Amino acid sequence: MTIEAYCMKCKEKQHMQNPVQGTTKNGKPITKGTCPVCGSTICRIGAAK
Ligand SMILES: [Zn+2]
Repeated sequence: MTIEAYCMKCKEKQHMQNPVQGTTKNGKPITKGTCPVCGSTICRIGAAK
């Protein structure tokens, strides 16, 4: 399973590593992970399926 998320540092979409599902303060599903290129945290709104 690969999840694409926009990396602010790379300024392009990357395949998220170690994706973890969570919830925002608004109660919306969010997926957090690590950028494989620069190693910064990237996140994506919406649950991974
Ligand atoms: Zn990156």
